[in-house]
Amino acid sequence: MPSSPALFLDRDGTLILDKHYLHKPEEVEFVPGSAAGLRALQEAGFLLFIVTNQSGVGRGYFSLADVDRVHAHIEAELAAEDVTFDGFYVAPEAPDQPSRGRKPSPAFLLEAAADFDLDLSRSYIVGDKLIDLETGWNAGCARSLLVRTGYGSATEETQGTELRDAVVVDDLAAACAWILKHHTA
Ligand SMILES: [Mg+2]
Repeated sequence: MPSSPALFLDRDGTLILDKHYLHKPEEVEFVPGSAAGLRALQEAGFLLFIVTNQSGVGRGYFSLADVDRVHAHIEAELAAEDVTFDGFYVAPEAPDQPSRGRKPSPAFLLEAAADFDLDLSRSYIVGDKLIDLETGWNAGCARSLLVRTGYGSATEETQGTELRDAVVVDDLAAACAWILKHHTA
């Protein structure tokens, strides 16, 4: 079996609307078109992973159990649309706390690559912040994609010179379409 490509996905502002320190399942609202985009990539052989910094845990605003409940909800909602996630990676630390996986660390991507036999050079990351793009660069992904949802538009405006070869698209659905068109099977 050849190694698989993967899509690493930021959560807040990319897959779901960014609601400051969201921690309740009922607050989850998907960015429109996301499920269809992810399903198409999955059908093309991509494994799907969420990689998310949740500093609200380290700051004491909510618990890891809250994060797990939100992720169980996301998983169930997307399973109903025939989208299956292969893993959720959470960095719960506050920015001033030591962390192995907190983006822009590539640690979770490297861990997933080892555990799921991924080909990172044919894998992609999508996010709304520079740290998401940097995570993909640090892990050796094919490309990093910036969406204009969440903080993405502000990132494009204020950090435009730091975006290197990032692909900038309107939303996750457009990111999935771009990857489908450009990836090498
Ligand atoms: Mg985000």
